[in-house]
Amino acid sequence: MIDSKLPTTGTTIFSQMSALASEHQALNLSQGFPDFGAPPALLEAMMRHVKAGHNQYAPMAGVVDLRQQIAAHLQRYREVDCDPDGEITVVPGATEGIFCAVMASVSQGDEVLVFDPCYDSYEPAITLAGGRTIHIPLTVQDFAIDWQRVEDVITPRTRMVIINSPHNPSGAALESADLEHLESLVERHNLHVVSDEVYEHLVFDNRDHHSVLQYPALRQRSFVMFSFGKTFSVTGWKTGYCVAPPALTTELRKVHQFVCFVANTPVQMAIADFMAAEPNYPATLSAFYQRKRDLFCSALKASRFKFTPSPGTYFQLLDYSALSSAADTQLAKNWTREHGVAAIPISVFYQHPPQQHYLRFCFAKSDTVLLNATERLCRI
Ligand code: PMP
Ligand code: GLN
Repeated sequence: MIDSKLPTTGTTIFSQMSALASEHQALNLSQGFPDFGAPPALLEAMMRHVKAGHNQYAPMAGVVDLRQQIAAHLQRYREVDCDPDGEITVVPGATEGIFCAVMASVSQGDEVLVFDPCYDSYEPAITLAGGRTIHIPLTVQDFAIDWQRVEDVITPRTRMVIINSPHNPSGAALESADLEHLESLVERHNLHVVSDEVYEHLVFDNRDHHSVLQYPALRQRSFVMFSFGKTFSVTGWKTGYCVAPPALTTELRKVHQFVCFVANTPVQMAIADFMAAEPNYPATLSAFYQRKRDLFCSALKASRFKFTPSPGTYFQLLDYSALSSAADTQLAKNWTREHGVAAIPISVFYQHPPQQHYLRFCFAKSDTVLLNATERLCRI
């Protein structure tokens, strides 16, 4: 036996629900991943690079072509200049990037602010770094940040804030006023930021994504994480990137090189080719996913769920309080077995779950699966 460094951590809810969905052959709207294929040109590029023998280690910071494509992408979509050598690091998934950023900057006893419901990988990273996670609930109505509450919990030990926009699981997206608040806060209290922007291209109803990179004083203190898994429908390729100023990038890479050293070579080369050939592809995602969200939501008008269409991500929260008073985790498991639809309970993402009755459904699924799922949900 060893003394667990994460004694209260179990297997993630995503693994649990996907396993249960597969055991009961349920429609799996739980774990977030598309059930449809990635762009064919991307898949072909991957095969091409594997066959051409590009199967050995890439440079530690990432394939040079890919970092150049990322810089072009950031210029095109966010109108910011980023140095591919000093500021962009390709990582094997945003999860690893977040872990390395936290490890690089959080020391024993440091406090890190997170917002509940909070993506499940943040707290274990903070704990392993020796830090303390300070949970601040988002507002109950619209999952917004109450900035006064943030000011109130800051102490001399506060070192970092982790934000996530568009937000998993609620879909809420930060406004420019939020980033202005954050910018002033981190300057006044000398904080660093991890900004989890993996769903940057999935914003609906003509919203703009506001990136931390667009706020110069904020950018100077931030590690900003992106994931190709979301943007190119290849979650299993586990490849993303971190943008941070040179001094932070240097520290991030010191950790990254000993957590995994490099991301996968042929995947990086394929993504570089695809980004060069189809720079407009990410701009098509909002309309693509908004149509799926609307298909899902309009078919659920006949149900007893209450919901507001998700502002971003590929997740839709449904309030089931008119159908059941059961706790969400038990209900998600029961419905997987009894109704053949798997979803994610959101209480697991809170330190102190509020009195809410929400399940999270992923709508990155074929129309047929979405319509079958809504038919089942309407029958409950
Ligand atoms: N952050 C959030 C909010 C996510 O939903 C995900 C999705 N898995 C990640 C980070 C991790 O992304 P990746 O698969 O690139 O590690
Ligand atoms: N981010 C995905 C989700 O929210 C799951 C990723 C994972 O399984 N770790 O469903």
